[in-house]
Amino acid sequence: MMRGMSETPPLTSIADETAYAEAVQLAVDASAAYYGDGTSTLDDDAYDRLVRGIEAYEAGHPDQVLPSSPTGKVAGGAVVGDVPHTVPMLSLDNVFGPDQLAAWAASLERRLDHPVTAWSVEAKLDGLAVSARYRRGRLVQLVTRGDGQAGEDVSHSIGTIVGLPERLAEPVTVELRGEVMMTTAQFADACAKRQAHDGTTFANPRSAAAGTLRTRDRPYVCELTFFGYGALPLPPGDDSPLAGRLRELPHSQIMEWVAGQGVQTTAVTPVAGVLVADLEAVRARVEEIAAARAGLDFGIDGIVIKCDLAADQAAAGFSSRAPRWAVAYKLPATEKITKLLAVEWNTGRTGIIAPRAVLEPVELDGSVVTYATLHNAADIARRGLMLGDSVTVYKAGDVIPRVEAPVVHLRTGDERPIDIPRVCPSCGDAIDATQERWRCVRGRACRAIASIEYAVGRDQLDIEGLAVNRIQQMLDAGLIADFADLFYLTRDQLLALDRMGETSTDNLLAALERAKAQPLSRVFCALGVRGTGRSMSRRIAAHFGTMDAIRAADAAAIQQVEGIGPEKAPVVVAELVELDALIDKLIKAGVNMTQPGVVRPPADEAADEAAGEAGGEAGEPLGLPLAGMSVVVTGTMTGPLAALSRNEVNELVERAGGKASSGVSAKTSLVVAGDKAGSKRTKAESLGVRVATPEEFAGLVAAFL
Ligand SMILES: [Zn+2]
Repeated sequence: MMRGMSETPPLTSIADETAYAEAVQLAVDASAAYYGDGTSTLDDDAYDRLVRGIEAYEAGHPDQVLPSSPTGKVAGGAVVGDVPHTVPMLSLDNVFGPDQLAAWAASLERRLDHPVTAWSVEAKLDGLAVSARYRRGRLVQLVTRGDGQAGEDVSHSIGTIVGLPERLAEPVTVELRGEVMMTTAQFADACAKRQAHDGTTFANPRSAAAGTLRTRDRPYVCELTFFGYGALPLPPGDDSPLAGRLRELPHSQIMEWVAGQGVQTTAVTPVAGVLVADLEAVRARVEEIAAARAGLDFGIDGIVIKCDLAADQAAAGFSSRAPRWAVAYKLPATEKITKLLAVEWNTGRTGIIAPRAVLEPVELDGSVVTYATLHNAADIARRGLMLGDSVTVYKAGDVIPRVEAPVVHLRTGDERPIDIPRVCPSCGDAIDATQERWRCVRGRACRAIASIEYAVGRDQLDIEGLAVNRIQQMLDAGLIADFADLFYLTRDQLLALDRMGETSTDNLLAALERAKAQPLSRVFCALGVRGTGRSMSRRIAAHFGTMDAIRAADAAAIQQVEGIGPEKAPVVVAELVELDALIDKLIKAGVNMTQPGVVRPPADEAADEAAGEAGGEAGEPLGLPLAGMSVVVTGTMTGPLAALSRNEVNELVERAGGKASSGVSAKTSLVVAGDKAGSKRTKAESLGVRVATPEEFAGLVAAFL
């Protein structure tokens, strides 16, 4: 349907009958593998392109259509399972982009002969469709989709699937349909278990879920997750009152009933199904779900749009393979198979030596990916990666692309082992390989240029006029070895540098003087402690108030800071010990080591006492406009906030007494939503959290701008 429009990915071109027969065989094999053990030689995108190529060829050569062709068949004709479905489990037709969606809706409304006024819009989950049969409230049988007419009995999995209760709230007989999948955490756990068992990992969460659901006698158990998306009378001809209601109620109300039975639905996620009245609102929700995708802890591959009313569904009916009253709006792929061409090893500013995968360029979630993270040498060994391997690569939204696993059955024998460096790739000194993350024995000194460049950056000390070539010049001249040395530079030393005039010298000295007064949060951030970026630095500074207090803290005390777990806390403590001399040098230079608003300067306390005021407790910024509030800033800032970086807006929140946070929850007090705010705004609205425009917010904190 509606193929060949501009937003559709290109189809595989098939030249002749031989190529057509090969393409059909390839698609049938891929489909059988996919619905069999969850592996496939083709990723989703490649499979879609292939099938559309086959369709195009068949349209031009109707006399050559092979009976085994995957076109027009559910699950590409893969035959698995022998449990007949009560009602066929059909797949959905796809649309790519808003134009095709509008065309689909228009043709549906022509067929119905009236406009659709109730649309249900929900995330399309990237898992396996299953049917769950309950008798008198007890889960008695679980069946995969199979070929849509009959599936495989996987009842042995009952009891390992979160969200699919063994008993419903009421003793009803009903068939539920939904998706079985693995969350990010479940996938990591499953990979670790399989690794421990046979040294291999799963390629991705979906194949892990497929394999887990269908395997009967694995020596280890992996947890799965279920989200329900439909309920049917059982048996189909049942004439009980419940069956009647399931036939007559709108889809949205059936899903409320399903959730009320204790079954998990997407209502508990940021991509909950919503009911809207027109196509414009459908499009808005499609955008919101697409924007929320990268932040989800489970995979979605599109958005399902369906008529909510039972009467509309009945009037629209079915084609041979799909309902006419629903469609899948496909989102760009977030995972594809590509080639691992090379592995580069780089030393970062803290001396950590990290491998990076160089890939055959591949388009993922709307951008071309050429590099992906490989974490560390141990991780490469664990995954058994080799150069030349076909690998699954994942990327969504702003996350750093990552290589998930090699596709072992695509190996040709030409793969080679990955070279592991024996010395630091930056300075040639030895590697400290005692930790999983390798490090140059010279530590931060190895890439002093990078640490200094980071420290003087806009979100840290914000020292203008210190470009990277200037820093290099100072390092070469032996004037500095770290960023604390900058504060000891004299006017004469600077003037002696090439291309350094009086004006730039004075400007730099003034900028250095201003930098000494930066709040502790920025000074701490400038240290570049591993695992602490801008927001973590602000939290640490707000928690402890002074550098003395931070340095005095042990791992248990550091762990009191939100977001620092038992793994990170000892790293922070060890890093601070390593940075001892640097911090002392900063203190001696007169750099500020307190966080304003947390611990007030002694002069203020003296004034308070003189005035006979009780004063607030240290650490309690009272009387500030955002006191006690948790604030989330999202979207593009406008008005008085337009010139501020996200870090600066968060600092503003904290100056005004609030706590800057990144995730919206019921505890959030206020969401500042700029242009293109997306899912955080939606979530705030659904939770009833107050939402302000950047302009309204600027008015609230005007005194602190
Ligand atoms: Zn080095």
